[in-house]
Amino acid sequence: MRGTMMNFPLTLPTILERSGKIFPRVEIVSRKPDKSVVRTCYGEFYNRARCLSSALLRLGLKPGDRVASMMWNHSSHLEAFFGVPCAGGILHTLNLRLHPQEIATIAKHAGDRFLLVDDVLYPVYEKFRQDVSFERVIVAPYGCNTIPEGSLNYEDLLANSDADFRYPAIDENDGAAMCFTSGTTGFSKGVIYSHRAIVLHSFCCGLVEVFGMNEADTILPVAPMFHANAWGIPFAATMLGARLVLPGPHVDPESILELMVRERVTVACGVPTVWIAVLDALEKNPTKWKFGNPIRVVCGGTAPPLELMRRLDRFGLHIKHLWGMTETTPIGTSGGLRAHMRDWPEDKKYDTRAKQGWPAPFVEIRLMRPEGEAPWDGVTSGEIEIRGPWIAASYYESPDQAHRWTEDGWFRTGDVATMDEDGYVKIVDRAKDLVKSGGEWISSVDLENTLMGHPAVKEACVVGIPHPKWQERPLAAVVLKDGAQATPDELRAFLAKSFAKWQLPDAFVFLDAIPRTSVGKFKKTALREQFANWKWEL
Ligand code: ADP
Repeated sequence: MRGTMMNFPLTLPTILERSGKIFPRVEIVSRKPDKSVVRTCYGEFYNRARCLSSALLRLGLKPGDRVASMMWNHSSHLEAFFGVPCAGGILHTLNLRLHPQEIATIAKHAGDRFLLVDDVLYPVYEKFRQDVSFERVIVAPYGCNTIPEGSLNYEDLLANSDADFRYPAIDENDGAAMCFTSGTTGFSKGVIYSHRAIVLHSFCCGLVEVFGMNEADTILPVAPMFHANAWGIPFAATMLGARLVLPGPHVDPESILELMVRERVTVACGVPTVWIAVLDALEKNPTKWKFGNPIRVVCGGTAPPLELMRRLDRFGLHIKHLWGMTETTPIGTSGGLRAHMRDWPEDKKYDTRAKQGWPAPFVEIRLMRPEGEAPWDGVTSGEIEIRGPWIAASYYESPDQAHRWTEDGWFRTGDVATMDEDGYVKIVDRAKDLVKSGGEWISSVDLENTLMGHPAVKEACVVGIPHPKWQERPLAAVVLKDGAQATPDELRAFLAKSFAKWQLPDAFVFLDAIPRTSVGKFKKTALREQFANWKWEL
């Protein structure tokens, strides 16, 4: 016998309607390029997002059409997050930090029909406009307020919109948004998120072990809205009525701290490099920033070093660990401490918090090795395979990537991990980043995170470099704190307390900065290239 419940579609118009009706007065704060702040609210956002839907339909948007956005984190971009999918289109957030040629390739591959672009980013578009053929370019006055000839003014479009807009019929499995992977390890691949996946993922964001987000929160997504939809926050915050603080182009530590204090942020999210820089600013000037409340810092993209967690705790910034991928919308696992761990010794608690947490509800994970599934014993590692309602079942038009899915429908993540009996995942490394030394694997993640616990080290990144005898050996690239000193021997001795001798890096190089990817992760490919011909002492 079937249940007697309604078959109600999980689509974004329902979230948009809810925000306009239930949270009309909740604020959305956006910072402009000149650092001034604009305040709007979900009530106004609701009207404007609907006007955008209506305008796009008037321009001829058809179901499934891709509308690209090249915008910073601010309220008009949020309007596009709803205005495009609620008109039946798919919002494709372009990664504006990529090389213009790469952006063009991605936009062409995605078949983007329209482009929404910030006025201040129009010059980026001009660098690749000859390679793309958007039917309409809509420019949002955000910074310089210049609308180039031949393009449409976003504000005029909204002002002339039909208030009588009715949502087109949308199936919950229709595409709503599209992102390409940030390409840390190779070419970008596209993923289309369905309405259903985004709605279910938004519920997940509300869970205490994830963002624990609710109407009492003020959320600062430092992660760009083009990086896995700022980790789902724009959708979830709108559904749950959380106050949003959108930082615009300024994500340097001082600008972040200023916003956190002034706007009384309660939750922030970003990759570890952001928080490493924030910690550095806090420690240099410990009395400058006074937070009125503890802050949950949701951190992922790479593993935050344990020492970063420990030191941020002292300032009331508490890291909550999240693991995920563009392909997983992105929440896969998240965590913190469980009830039975409350009385554990401090060090054990930190070790647990440094793990990536346990799978979100409906996200299933198994660890696979050539000989079969790895036990959850906290020691045996295997590649994470994952499935669930917000996990990609394929890439967008990339048949050559079909091997990333198993025959029984699991996604092969390329991440190697262990799991313990409580279901906590610990990422050992990306398979591509493991250092393959004489038949053994060395985790670059463990080495760099331990190194970042050395008092003189600000940043550390470990990569495998070809070696004539061992296939690869680890090389550590280190950025020292301002005015600090450390020699390779000291750093090696520091690591020797936690690692076997064969695991220790054979080379240390001191850099002014570690190259970053377009979303702020350490760019290991660049380091591997730079030091590919390292002269090892044999
Ligand atoms: P890209 O693969 O181009 O970097 P993503 O941002 O989608 O694009 O990255 C997903 C990958 O980031 C994961 O497969 C994993 O290797 C890494 N990652 C994400 N979160 C964490 C985390 N908390 N700890 C360790 N690695 C992480």
